[in-house]
Order: sequence, then C-alpha cells, then structure tokens
Amino acid sequence: MSVAVYPGSFDPVTLGHLDIIERSAKIMDKVIVGVLKNNSKTPLFSVEERVNMLKNITKDMPNVEVSSFDGLLVDFVQQQKADVIVRGLRAITDFEYELQMSQTNRVIASQIDTIFLTTNLKYSYLSSTIVKEIARYHGNINEFLHPYVAEKVREKVEEEERNAR
Ligand code: ADP
Repeated sequence: MSVAVYPGSFDPVTLGHLDIIERSAKIMDKVIVGVLKNNSKTPLFSVEERVNMLKNITKDMPNVEVSSFDGLLVDFVQQQKADVIVRGLRAITDFEYELQMSQTNRVIASQIDTIFLTTNLKYSYLSSTIVKEIARYHGNINEFLHPYVAEKVREKVEEEERNAR
C-alpha cells in the first residue's frame, strides 16, 4: 500500500494546495496532510484551526487524512508508516529549496522518497501569503480559496482588526 504525507503550513489552505491533495489522492492509496506546528513565522490561524479547515474541505475524500505534526518531517512520515513525501512545485523559485529539502531528507531517511507534482497552471501564482495580504486589504479572495476557508479568513481578519483597535 502506498501512503504519502503532504506536509506544509497551510496558513490557510488554498485551491492550489487542494489541487495537489486531490491529484495525489488519485495516485496514492492514502494521503496524510501534515500540518506543521512549529512555524517560525507567526501564523494567522492556530494549528487546530488549520487542521479543522483541511478536514472540512477534504471530508468527501475517503483516502485523505489530516494531522498536525512538529519536529522532523521524516520522523512524522515514519510514524505514519508512509514512504513518500508529496510536495508541490509552482515555479523555479520553489525548486532550489525543495531540492535541498528532499536531498537532506533522503540522507536522514533513505527509504523515504519525495515526489513533486507541478502546479495546475491556474494556481501557479497562488500562495497563502498573497491571499492573506489581499484579505487584509479587504480584496476578493473567493477565487483562491474554498468557500468554507474564505469565510474563516474573513472572520479572522475582522477579529485581527477588532483586536488592533
Ligand atoms: P511550506 O511553508 O512548507 O512551503 P505551504 O503551505 O506554503 O508550506 O506549501 C505546502 C506545499 O504546497 C509546498 O510543497 C508548496 O510548494 C505547495 N504549494 C503551495 N502553493 C501551491 C500552489 N498554488 N500550487 C501548487 N502547490 C502549491
């Protein structure tokens, strides 16, 4: 059985991420979306909120699970009895970092391989950071996010604004 982990910050999950989840779930028997806890950047959403959003929008995908993790990715992959890491590649700018990560992970755990799915062209420009910027300026984020996630982002931005007053 082929089990993959798709790790990331998902702060918030975008349609670009969702596309990678759907496509990897077609290739693999099981996909575990791993939400990273110890983020060096201050996230907009707590890890529990990010996990809940992902669970909500993948609830109709029977072979997709969502779980949070901290520490080394390869340790999480081994705990989950997975053997593949899935990452998405948007542009050449992603490549250098992703190559470095995958080579390092292979040195630490040689039985785990990384596969890369190239982004759907529709979403190649899309990042969680850009979506957050637009939301903070009250721009329209419906094109980039699942409706459930878009609503949560709007609520969160309003909460931030209230707290800043
Ligand atoms: P990280 O902080 O680990 O980069 P992200 O949540 O930003 O986490 O991204 C997780 C994974 O999803 C990465 O492999 C990233 O390249 C990929 N990804 C992000 N946005 C897109 C997109 N629009 N299309 C395809 N893959 C994407």
